[in-house]
Amino acid sequence: MGAGVIGLAVGWRAAQRGLKVIVLEADTGPARRTSAVAAGMLAPISETLATELPLMRLGLASVQAYPEFLAELTDATGMDTGYLRCGTLLLARDSDEAEALARELSLRESLGLSAHRLRASEARRLEPALAPTLRLALDVPDDHAIDPRKLTAALARALTAAGGEVRTNAPVAELATAECRVTGVRLVGGERVAAEQVVVAAGPWSSSLDGVPEGASIPVHPVKGQILRLHDPSGPGLLTRVVRFSGGYLVPRGDGRYVLGATMEERGFDTTVTAGGAYDLLRDAFELLPSVTELVIDELSAGLRPATPDNAPAIGPGAIEGLHWATGHFRHGVLLTPITAQMVLAGLTGEEAQAPEFAPTRFATVAA
Ligand SMILES: Cc1cc2nc3c(=O)[nH]c(=O)nc-3n(C[C@H](O)[C@H](O)[C@H](O)COP(=O)(O)OP(=O)(O)OC[C@H]3O[C@@H](n4cnc5c(N)ncnc54)[C@H](O)[C@@H]3O)c2cc1C
Repeated sequence: MGAGVIGLAVGWRAAQRGLKVIVLEADTGPARRTSAVAAGMLAPISETLATELPLMRLGLASVQAYPEFLAELTDATGMDTGYLRCGTLLLARDSDEAEALARELSLRESLGLSAHRLRASEARRLEPALAPTLRLALDVPDDHAIDPRKLTAALARALTAAGGEVRTNAPVAELATAECRVTGVRLVGGERVAAEQVVVAAGPWSSSLDGVPEGASIPVHPVKGQILRLHDPSGPGLLTRVVRFSGGYLVPRGDGRYVLGATMEERGFDTTVTAGGAYDLLRDAFELLPSVTELVIDELSAGLRPATPDNAPAIGPGAIEGLHWATGHFRHGVLLTPITAQMVLAGLTGEEAQAPEFAPTRFATVAA
């Protein structure tokens, strides 16, 4: 259940393998929720935290899987996904941020990750639109970006082409089980859909499924992010790399469009957009890229990142037979799409679990 980037990718891979796939989607179309809002950074190196090394390794594995994943997707659909091998610059505005960036560099060097210190003048040679007040930059050449809206459109097409089905306006109300194994789901409205295996890929709504035995559910909660979509009326070229700074990031699409994100707000399932959200995003970006104010605003939107208590996703078989989870991807769902699809498919076809750190059963309080 759930036709976001994760459910579509899992469904595509499963249909390719010959399984009969129906993706049940509550909304009026596929990928209208969190996945439609995401910026699309594929940035495991920029986002590395000393406390989240298993997640970084998962991200690196996914980034490595991306080129082949996209080649197959384009082969299957003929559609472009907006994949841009653009690299990323991490930016510091003042001496405190420069010190923090130097620590970030040491961590990446100690892990053998590709990141290089750039003087402000060197960074401005690469990206002339950066403000003269820039203090220091890190060049992360292997962190790239993709357009999540194009990616999900291609995944939906590939899924159908492989024999799968996306049923929209089909909100799942309840998991159906008998003798401790899955027998299907019941939709809001009462219809039963029989299935031997059910994958819950409902993003931040993944915990709200009735019928999951107590203690077998995954605790997922929403973390709101507001994000701006902009374009440069004079065309592409203002910025060629993703830039990240304290308070946000700006992602170029390569065609004069940009995505400026994102706030982090604990506001439950609220997706209203606010003047304060837009102000925060523009204020931080303006300090490093003054010409951001000349861009035209196309859209201000808000999405809900699906977060778990340990900030890591839950991927694979759950605590009852036939139930699988592909949820809790928080800030990294687009990045982790290829590897998640691969891991869930392994579970669906009865292969060995590959990454116990991300096993859904770490949250379970009932025995498998
Ligand atoms: C502002 C912002 C920026 C982001 N930027 C990035 C980024 O740069 N890089 C990155 O990797 N990640 C990014 N993310 C995170 C990424 O968007 C998410 O991790 C990812 O989209 C989660 O995908 P999903 O398919 O699990 O969830 P969703 O896209 O939310 O899909 C879940 C689907 O399940 C459906 N659903 C829910 N309940 C039911 C039900 N009962 N029955 C049937 N269907 C149901 C929903 O309608 C929805 O379509 C960002 C997120 C936000 C909010």
